[in-house]
Amino acid sequence: MARSRSLVAALSGGRRIAGVELDVALSGGLAWADSGGIDGIRLLRQADVAMHLAKADRRPVVAYEARRDTANPARLAMAGRLRAAIEEGALTLHYQPQLDLRSDRVVGVEALVRWMPPDQQRPISPADFVDVAERTGLIHPLTRLVLRRAAAQAAAWQRQGLDLRMSVNLSARNLEDESLGRDLAAILAGEGVDPRTFEVQVTETSVMTDPTTAIATLQAIAQLGVSVSIDDFGTGHSSLAYLIRLPVHQLKVDRSFVMAMDRSDAGRAVVHAIVDLGRHLGLEVVAEGIETQAQLDLLAEVGCATGQGYLFARPLPAIELVDWIERHHAAQAPSASIAAVVPIPRGAAG
Ligand code: C2E
Ligand code: MG
Repeated sequence: MARSRSLVAALSGGRRIAGVELDVALSGGLAWADSGGIDGIRLLRQADVAMHLAKADRRPVVAYEARRDTANPARLAMAGRLRAAIEEGALTLHYQPQLDLRSDRVVGVEALVRWMPPDQQRPISPADFVDVAERTGLIHPLTRLVLRRAAAQAAAWQRQGLDLRMSVNLSARNLEDESLGRDLAAILAGEGVDPRTFEVQVTETSVMTDPTTAIATLQAIAQLGVSVSIDDFGTGHSSLAYLIRLPVHQLKVDRSFVMAMDRSDAGRAVVHAIVDLGRHLGLEVVAEGIETQAQLDLLAEVGCATGQGYLFARPLPAIELVDWIERHHAAQAPSASIAAVVPIPRGAAG
């Protein structure tokens, strides 16, 4: 890998060809002939796939990985099974609480999709199937299913008097979809959910793929009253200019920055800068991936108002989340008033 990187670096840069100064950018793909034997054509094809991934990732060199190869037989099989799972509604949502870090109260939840194929012991992580869904177009029905489930759950909680903001992740392909705003409006109206309690999360990179279309889609969504959050803030290909053009109300500090906080001054400085940027732009800032008390203390020091992470709770099925909130809030009440804590009814839709 190191050698191929130096090869790419040596060949990249300015070149004068026929009197014209050209800026040459190179991308490299690496593939290995494994011990099981692989023919030359397959090896070249795998290197080519890796090279295209390097271009997409904007990295100098990428090594071939079967799980990222759309024509890989295992992935093609996964796409077929995922299609069936979506059609059968066999995907479920888990919810991770987001807390006001000052009052320690739960203010909202992030909905995270889970796929549990019947023949497997553990759910397949969305990190492994969302990109398959994106490449095959299945992301559109998948997102509709997630939005319907999340809206139904939000409505059930609202009816029970549980006041939680519901936040759903969108992918880059969703932002190219002009009918998304209309469909979301119909889903929320159908479930009787107040759009002001609903939020969508998009990453910077997904917005920058096609900013004009993405901004139009997000504006249509924001006009409904739904909030827009920028996920993994600071890690993608971004331009701060879009923060002014987009109807954004929230920045999510990426987990990698939160992890860096208790390791270095630079890590703390980055989070501090994001919190300040949010404050100056009038945006809420949510820290994600809080795992330790030390990180939580440092976040309080830099004035971060909201957070989520394993320190509080992992993503949970709806019914377990309600139990968790009930226990969490009850534990905070002064002992004299525990009897007065109103039990929170359990969630219904799943
Ligand atoms: P994300 O939106 O950045 O979500 C946060 C991920 O970090 C979740 O992983 C969550 O379980 C995990 N996480 C939360 N707290 C902690 C922590 O303290 N430590 C660590 N190590 N991890 C933590 P998950 O559920 O596997 O989701 C991965 C990604 O898949 C999400 O990243 C999101 O980009 C995508 N995804 C999930 N659900 C959906 C969905 O319904 N639609 C779309 N398009 N993408 C989704
Ligand atoms: Mg998210």
